Amino acid sequence: MERIVFLCLVSTSLSAVPVQKFLFTPKWVPIGYKGRQIHGDLTAMDEIITANEVHATRFVDGTTSLREGDIAVTSGRRSKVCFARSCLWSKSVDGHVYIPYRVSSDYTETQVQLIKKAMENIEEDTCVRFVPRTHQQDFIDIQRKTGCWSYLGARGGRQTVSLQSPDCVQLGVISHEFMHALGFVHEQSRPDRDKYVTIMWPNIWRDRLRNFEKFRTEDLDLPYDYSSIMHFGMYSYSMEGEPTIIPKNSKNTKLGQTSYLSNLDKLKINRLYKCGW
Ligand SMILES: [Zn+2]
Repeated sequence: MERIVFLCLVSTSLSAVPVQKFLFTPKWVPIGYKGRQIHGDLTAMDEIITANEVHATRFVDGTTSLREGDIAVTSGRRSKVCFARSCLWSKSVDGHVYIPYRVSSDYTETQVQLIKKAMENIEEDTCVRFVPRTHQQDFIDIQRKTGCWSYLGARGGRQTVSLQSPDCVQLGVISHEFMHALGFVHEQSRPDRDKYVTIMWPNIWRDRLRNFEKFRTEDLDLPYDYSSIMHFGMYSYSMEGEPTIIPKNSKNTKLGQTSYLSNLDKLKINRLYKCGW
């Protein structure tokens, strides 16, 4: 996966950002969170940002860090670049893509039901099926760790999806993390995103500029999806409540989703996994 370099562009425009403002904030919370509340519904990604910035650090543990806010990346031998079709879950001869899972016993029964509802959210109109793990070698291990995060695509073996309780145990958040586990990155990191949205660099929390990088991914011949559950919200990582992403088509376009996958999200799954749905 190639990172598209843009830092030289933003460094000039951000020279006037008041650094001390967030260095000396008494309670270290995402500045701009208040602004997003005023501006309407929080997207799934906003909920994730809130959980991860307040409770988790940038580093999940010694070797794992979070890219784009919630995609776990491990340094070292096991790290694997997930590019396009290189990290797909295998497809069964019956046409389904089975994802074996295990859920930690730390969750309440109600939370387990919500996790299962998010699985149904993904399964509906797609070829993906989540199945309780029996003997399968590759599976997702849903754990109540700190923060909401997932690895990208199938890594091989056991892979954690972290859903901190209660912050991350929400339908939209869980579905978003499962989409990462299926191999999808954030919608606004598409290489062609500048045709559809304007990134408001000066409004972005300076420490989190890297979360707005582009990645060379396949667009699967599908249109840009403003309402993808994988899209950042209009105020994600806002420094002072000003928008960080503005849609180019209309000011009234809503970015992201709160709870459900968009129709295009479902199409994306079926295209990536070559399912005839
Ligand atoms: Zn994400």
